[in-house]
Amino acid sequence: MTEARYFEPETVDEVVALLAADEDAKCVAGGASLVAMMNARLVEPSQLISLRHVEELQKIELNEDGWLQIGALVRHCDVVIAAELTEGNQVLSQAAGLIANPVIRDMGTIGGSVGHFDPAADYPVALAALGAEIEIAGANGRRSVPAGEFFIDWYETALAPSDLITSIRVPPAPVGSAGIYEKLAKVQGDMGIAMVAVVMAMAGDAINYLAVSVGGCGPTPIRLPDAEQALIGGSVDDAALQDFSNKLVAASDPVDDVRASAAYRKVLIPRFVAQAIDKAKAKLGEAS
Ligand SMILES: Cc1cc2nc3c(=O)[nH]c(=O)nc-3n(C[C@H](O)[C@H](O)[C@H](O)COP(=O)(O)OP(=O)(O)OC[C@H]3O[C@@H](n4cnc5c(N)ncnc54)[C@H](O)[C@@H]3O)c2cc1C
Repeated sequence: MTEARYFEPETVDEVVALLAADEDAKCVAGGASLVAMMNARLVEPSQLISLRHVEELQKIELNEDGWLQIGALVRHCDVVIAAELTEGNQVLSQAAGLIANPVIRDMGTIGGSVGHFDPAADYPVALAALGAEIEIAGANGRRSVPAGEFFIDWYETALAPSDLITSIRVPPAPVGSAGIYEKLAKVQGDMGIAMVAVVMAMAGDAINYLAVSVGGCGPTPIRLPDAEQALIGGSVDDAALQDFSNKLVAASDPVDDVRASAAYRKVLIPRFVAQAIDKAKAKLGEAS
């Protein structure tokens, strides 16, 4: 095995140029996943491009259009306490708080997690529910990809080899919304068996905003915007929710793995969705 060369660029353009010059180069953010993969000889990068001196990637900023821009290098522990994530957008801080353990949350970054895209990872589920966008810098300039189009298949994203995630953009939370992120893991700190993110708002007894995303039950987070829309204007009704959950189960494509069987995951979806919606309703009740 040859030793990887190590670079510490200071700008996004320099990172992209280094990535574009060598297809076996890898950028390293927190190193939580990459170093583990290198130790297991699953990847052997020719060059390691550290992101730690790229200032543009470190900030959390509220943009003029009300969207929150979270730099790719923002660590999980800082997403947990980000005061800018309010109301329904708190699903993102809740998801960050359930990643692994305090050591990994101090190391790992949001850009690293989204770029690595393990289908059992927590952020993608929350980002899909929020309608977030992934900001990317590549050899042909900068672009923005909605979370729903970014996660394509098992371990496949919209990233080209020389692309760098620069930030995650989160839209303003729906007015009066609450967010609930639920994760079932075999032991605390493990990757999830199944996850659900719910963002909901109500006017009296009627639902007036709903976004539900399910993770760990297929290659990408599952969202059904038409089925969500059909629940708007109605109450949180058991029969309607069961019908909604049945559609999510039909759209799921889980696998058997070391954590759980596919059949078990399908059983979990309706229970998890009902539980998260109940919790969101209770949270909205407490706030009113
Ligand atoms: C023991 C353990 C338990 C874990 N448990 C969980 C869990 O419960 N839930 C969960 O969601 N995750 C979990 N993870 C993954 C963890 O969240 C990692 O922090 C994350 O997946 C990678 O973040 P990182 O910053 O360390 O990235 P790195 O390890 O540095 O990089 C990972 C990959 O992403 C690429 N990359 C890094 N930054 C960018 C960027 N800005 N643009 C494009 N590509 C980039 C790298 O080249 C590399 O291929 C766990 C990891 C470990 C080791």
